[in-house]
Amino acid sequence: MLTEHPVPTGPTHLQDRVPRVVGSGLTVPLVTGQRVPYANLDHAASTPCLVEVGQAVERLLPWYSSVHRGTGFTSRVATLTYERARDAVRRFVGAAPGATALFTRNTTDALNLLGRALPPHTTVIRFAADHHAALLAWRGSRVCRLGVPASPGQAVGLLAGALADAPRGPKLVVITGASNVTGELWPVAALAEAAAAHGARTVLDAAQSAAHGPLDIAAWGVDWVALSGHKMYAPFGAGALVGASDWLAGAEPYLAGGGASARVAEAEGRETVLWSGLPHRHEAGSPNVVGAYAMAVAGEALSATGWDVITAHERGLAARLRDGLARIPGVCPLGMWETGSPAVGVVSFGVSHCGGEPADQRLVATALSAEHGIGIRDGAFCAHQAVRALLCRVHRHQPGRALRASIGLGTTAEHVDRLLSALTELVAHGPRWTYRNTPDGWCPVPDPRPLPDFLEHRTLAAERARPEQKGCTP
Ligand code: PMP
Repeated sequence: MLTEHPVPTGPTHLQDRVPRVVGSGLTVPLVTGQRVPYANLDHAASTPCLVEVGQAVERLLPWYSSVHRGTGFTSRVATLTYERARDAVRRFVGAAPGATALFTRNTTDALNLLGRALPPHTTVIRFAADHHAALLAWRGSRVCRLGVPASPGQAVGLLAGALADAPRGPKLVVITGASNVTGELWPVAALAEAAAAHGARTVLDAAQSAAHGPLDIAAWGVDWVALSGHKMYAPFGAGALVGASDWLAGAEPYLAGGGASARVAEAEGRETVLWSGLPHRHEAGSPNVVGAYAMAVAGEALSATGWDVITAHERGLAARLRDGLARIPGVCPLGMWETGSPAVGVVSFGVSHCGGEPADQRLVATALSAEHGIGIRDGAFCAHQAVRALLCRVHRHQPGRALRASIGLGTTAEHVDRLLSALTELVAHGPRWTYRNTPDGWCPVPDPRPLPDFLEHRTLAAERARPEQKGCTP
């Protein structure tokens, strides 16, 4: 079933320009004792590191030092690196020149930061299809919840209606760039225009879109954008919130501490604090210069590659995946909008049967890994409302759970073909190995897969058997 060489996809002259990722030749063990090249079809969760990013980080490490806190030469280098990274991320998202760029841990952190900076009595308007990060970061504010729209046009109509009915006062509209369930692209500019027509501000959750197409928030009329380095080939723990300064400048610091405080004194037994201005106001503590730099390098590398190269690679593979899945009996792809709507390479689907039995989605995902060396996701992908709503539209047996395959620069056509043939076989005949269901999910029994050398335990089964671990024993 495995082809020896990756099958090329997309026009060859573009294919040659696809940037390489670290670990592209990695092999993983199967329960049978064989090793196969890892088919990473989980780019929507986290992308691998670009080779160029890994090399840049290695170059930086000897110079690694404190940021904004030292007079030593390496501190000056680290500080400059960090501030240049800020400029690079600002450019990457197409922000207006005066925009504030704040480094955070990830998109979740960035949206929560903005959530804490909302002026009093702000109404937040968002869709049920959003990721939990975009759904929940506004707790404590008045939230207007819109359902899962049946088309991009209906999304704009629903929003316009909600804005017309919204109470007076500040309003923030949360817009998702690309769905982490279906990959479908939301009509960002049209939603931002509808928001602006009602005097509302907008924040774009670009976690799933940043690595797959250009961002141009100034042109789209978007006020803020949140994104994650680990979803754009820079897995070093940084994310960013970029956009308008006003709400951020007026807010209490997101975290209290060094950097965010310009002057601390004591008066009548209490601390008095003069908080710093932007950007330091919301970046208390020692900043993640490695993560920020990695994100900046990744953004520059993606832009320099050319979005035509990236989209040609990804769209070809995504079409292969969607067409192949549609041909497997009992596999139901999920979609919000009509088939063929513009999308990034994220495909969620339900499997109704596996070897003649009602399918357990997690067992299917476990068998794909254990028997075929394929990594995908199962569950509800931190978008419970979206997955529940979309599963209701297809005929399935296991409510609330689906499978998700997602592609990116590390994906080859062989990975996609391997998934399609493994799924076809699983649907028809069920798993070939035995599995036990445990509170932590399905485990192969036995599970002789060795862990890599740098981990102290010899097999996954031995790791599970350690007394402090819950879950199944072999
Ligand atoms: N929004 C979307 C659309 C996502 O897919 C994710 C991650 N799955 C997030 C937000 C949160 O990103 P992070 O985990 O990097 O904070």
